[in-house]
Amino acid sequence: MKLVCSLRWLSDGTYLFCTLMEHQAKSKSFFTVQLTDWHANTNERSLPWKSEKDPYRIWLSEVILQQTRAQQGLPYYLAFTNAYPTVQQLAEADENEVFRLWQGLGYYNRCKNMLATARIIKDQLGGIFPDNYDGLIQLKGIGPYTAAAIASFAFGQPNAVVDGNVYRVLARYFGIELPFDTSEGKKHFAALAQQLLDVNNSSAYNQAIMDLGATVCTPRKPKCSECPLSKKCIACRDNLIELLPVRSKRIEVKKRFFHYLLIHWQDYVWIRKRTGNDIWQNLHEPFLIETVTPMETEDIIQTENFKNTGLNYSTITYESKTTQRLTHQIIEARFFSLHFSKKPAMKSHAGVWMNKNELRKTAFPKTVLSFLEKKLYF
Ligand code: SF4
Repeated sequence: MKLVCSLRWLSDGTYLFCTLMEHQAKSKSFFTVQLTDWHANTNERSLPWKSEKDPYRIWLSEVILQQTRAQQGLPYYLAFTNAYPTVQQLAEADENEVFRLWQGLGYYNRCKNMLATARIIKDQLGGIFPDNYDGLIQLKGIGPYTAAAIASFAFGQPNAVVDGNVYRVLARYFGIELPFDTSEGKKHFAALAQQLLDVNNSSAYNQAIMDLGATVCTPRKPKCSECPLSKKCIACRDNLIELLPVRSKRIEVKKRFFHYLLIHWQDYVWIRKRTGNDIWQNLHEPFLIETVTPMETEDIIQTENFKNTGLNYSTITYESKTTQRLTHQIIEARFFSLHFSKKPAMKSHAGVWMNKNELRKTAFPKTVLSFLEKKLYF
């Protein structure tokens, strides 16, 4: 009998090494068999990228679905596969067009990396995706999860996927109290997932565990009565569902205040491209003054940032505010308008004047786009 080891995380911060004997090994085989049977006979989750064998489309779907719910990602997947049916077409696409198509999905670094990878595949790999995990993981923006997903779904390679759904299902079924977001936790879950994998049908197994996590073993109110694993699930048996999986630390959420000044001259608005290592990189926005506390109109004109523009303002009108929640940040965006009859000189700030037509073709963060759409009626 093969021995398998597991770590149990105790409240005093130590690990208890547990040697899991025959019954645990049987439980694992029960896990894999039940899961794949459920997938074959009961799982009705239907999404266009399921059963897809084209590595490009699998990759697109995985990049779009990172940090995004399937229903939210679906129209983006369809838009991208429609606009760029092949990796070559994506690689040759106009960058601004690609960002516009991505608009509203957030996490714009994903889009930037996706484009960079498409160009590497086209220019350096002859337009062909690597057909194994080790080759895939070398590519920009492809981490262990995406590499395993492409390797198994497109090429039938024996690589287990590990994402939030998988952490949840495994932590609950095996009663694992080890935090999944530590390096030990990650190693432990990855090794366990790999042991459980049906190596002869990795694609179906991976799809099954992801679908179970998304539709049955959900973060809140899992449907244990419909779950094929309930008979041996430790969380279900010991009433641990609310406690598992365990995260090591609370996510710190930072609040930021973005004061957007819409500087109008004739039919034009002054717009700049976001640069630097920050959110919404490569997207566009009106003139921004960021602070750690909210400001009113009279405070804005006193800021160095505003004075440095050299603008000879007449009146600033407050328009509206909106809040957007990101994983680690809450952005409160306040919008103000300034109208000029003569073209103002925007000193030392790289930006351009855009009319409605140009604004429509430009990629903006969702928060800014919603305001522009409402205010400028495009
Ligand atoms: S029995 Fe409930 S908690 Fe256990 S794996 Fe199934 S859905 Fe999740």
